Amino acid sequence: MRDKYVCIVCGKKFPKGQGVVLVVKGRKYPFHSKGCAVRFFRRLIEELDPNALSDAFERVRKSFEDELRAKEERNVKKIA
Ligand SMILES: [Zn+2]
Repeated sequence: MRDKYVCIVCGKKFPKGQGVVLVVKGRKYPFHSKGCAVRFFRRLIEELDPNALSDAFERVRKSFEDELRAKEERNVKKIA
């Protein structure tokens, strides 16, 4: 059992190297699939402070926006 994780959402066992394992402050949070990770995050979001959550959402959205823009600019340069 040493090389297996148990999904904290559905209880399914899965081997190391598969699924998604998040480490927060040294504690492991294993999910056997992306679907289970999303289910966990949806519930996690409800637990967080709405103001802090909204700020974090905007920061993350901005960082993805910047990545997308950088990618678009690279594509335009290739075409030109
Ligand atoms: Zn699962």
